Amino acid sequence: MNLFDLSGRVAIVTGGNGGIGLGMAEGLAAAGAAVVLAGRNATKGSVAVKQIKDVGGKAEFENVDVIDEKSCRALIDGVAQKHGKLNILVNNAGINIRKAPDQLNAAEWRSVIDTNLTSAFICSHAAHPHMKKAGGGKIINIGSMMSIFAAGFAPAYAASKGGIVQFGRACATAWAKDNIQVNAVLPGWIDTDLTKNARREVSGLHERVLSRTPAGRWGDPSDFAGIAVFLASAASDFVTGTAIPVDGGFSVQG
Ligand code: NDP
Repeated sequence: MNLFDLSGRVAIVTGGNGGIGLGMAEGLAAAGAAVVLAGRNATKGSVAVKQIKDVGGKAEFENVDVIDEKSCRALIDGVAQKHGKLNILVNNAGINIRKAPDQLNAAEWRSVIDTNLTSAFICSHAAHPHMKKAGGGKIINIGSMMSIFAAGFAPAYAASKGGIVQFGRACATAWAKDNIQVNAVLPGWIDTDLTKNARREVSGLHERVLSRTPAGRWGDPSDFAGIAVFLASAASDFVTGTAIPVDGGFSVQG
């Protein structure tokens, strides 16, 4: 028996059309899952789908705007109907607005919280009946180092990433009886579109990340393939409610 085999499983990765989400989707597809990459940008989506198919994986792109509840529910129910099941959900879509708390307005606060946190609630809520029907499921939420630490330039982001860990723990507790495991992954500093902006906007960030990260490098989206397979597979059937850093040691550096 291969504990990591995902053949026959159906997975949705929000924001799977790029960055960390695509890194996770590539891992899931390589382990045999049919992966739905869900996002707004269809051009990025078709490039990502091709990337997975070129190496023999099963992938498709679906449009979703995760701040829109109807769009999230249409995605989840549509995929479950089309494939006859839904086994794995990765709540990965996320944004940041880098401003101090006194500079951030309520609309900006809401857009970060809605994108990063409320979307995870809605997608998980929509996925639960399908997973229950399938006899179990796996939900992977994407936190951040700001699930643990904070930064003056990221008040809404830090709130959303702290919140997603605790929301996931509530689901892990409630849905253990349905054989649904819910875990969070906490990325360190990873080289993606999101952090390219941060590097431009926060002076000295690049050097601080390198000096603080014991591994001595920024992470790459491909660093998330393995943790995705672990948390989506039978290998993690007794692992639930955890928050696992994938950070090159950033969070344990004294
Ligand atoms: P990217 O900007 O590359 O990816 C973010 C993804 O989220 C995009 O694919 C984007 O899709 C999608 N997305 C954003 N808003 C929406 C929306 N309203 N509806 C649908 N999709 C949306 O950044 P990362 O890969 O770095 O980020 C992925 C996750 O990892 C985020 O949750 C982020 O907070 C988290 N993270 C990243 C870290 C890093 O260092 N990079 C560190 C810690 C956490 P589209 O382009 O189609 O809008």
